[in-house]
Amino acid sequence: MKLSRHKFIRRLLNYYRTHFDIEIPFIILIDGTFAFEALQWKIQIDEQLKAYLETEQIICSTTLCAIKETELLGGIGFGAMLILKQYDIVKCNHYPSISAEKCFQQILIKDTTKKYFLASQSLSLREYCHNHRPDLPTMLITHNAINLERPSLNSRSIVEEKKKERTNLSKHESNVLKKRKHELNLDQDENNGEKKTKKKHGINPLSMKKKKTINSINQTVNNKSEKMTRRRTRQLRMSSHLKEHLKELQKTFSIKEFFHKE
Ligand SMILES: [Zn+2]
Repeated sequence: MKLSRHKFIRRLLNYYRTHFDIEIPFIILIDGTFAFEALQWKIQIDEQLKAYLETEQIICSTTLCAIKETELLGGIGFGAMLILKQYDIVKCNHYPSISAEKCFQQILIKDTTKKYFLASQSLSLREYCHNHRPDLPTMLITHNAINLERPSLNSRSIVEEKKKERTNLSKHESNVLKKRKHELNLDQDENNGEKKTKKKHGINPLSMKKKKTINSINQTVNNKSEKMTRRRTRQLRMSSHLKEHLKELQKTFSIKEFFHKE
């Protein structure tokens, strides 16, 4: 058995487990057509199913209607009948017996166990399952081996709808959660923890010039005038050395007197 075949079957089983909750033991409902085909290819159904589905927990089963159908075929159906007679009988309560196809349809439509697989070469029976039991895996014999069919379009569309419902629900839930968090002031903590939002800072006080009031204007004028006077006083100031020199000059030479004389 190739690895890709294992991967394929695991993926399929996982699909049915995840979306439709199928569970072990798997009950494989087998009709005369499947048994007949297995005989042609010398397939040991029970052994190959265990290897293929990777579990020992497999119950091969059939109905009395299916066995009766192989009996009615005479010699051609003899081998298939012997195979079916080894299996567990699912009670169908059809007296007199009906066709295996109708019998299986009625059993599968009533079933709620999530354990059944259908094994049949009948396309119409498998299609019935695809339409009415999209949660149920179907299998047939092709290429000298038992093969699970890919999920039908019907099955996949149901899964897609389920996914949508789940996401819608979670959206609703998340909205309720948000509202509740807001009420409890938990959303602020969350914001602090996850992303820092830019806080609105005020204007930098250092970059602001104070508005000039009349008082402040007067104050600056006073300061300026004070500086001016200071400057003036400085200008009038003379060094002691110079003062002394002037005094000496006044003593010896009076300019005023000089002009008066003239
Ligand atoms: Zn029946």
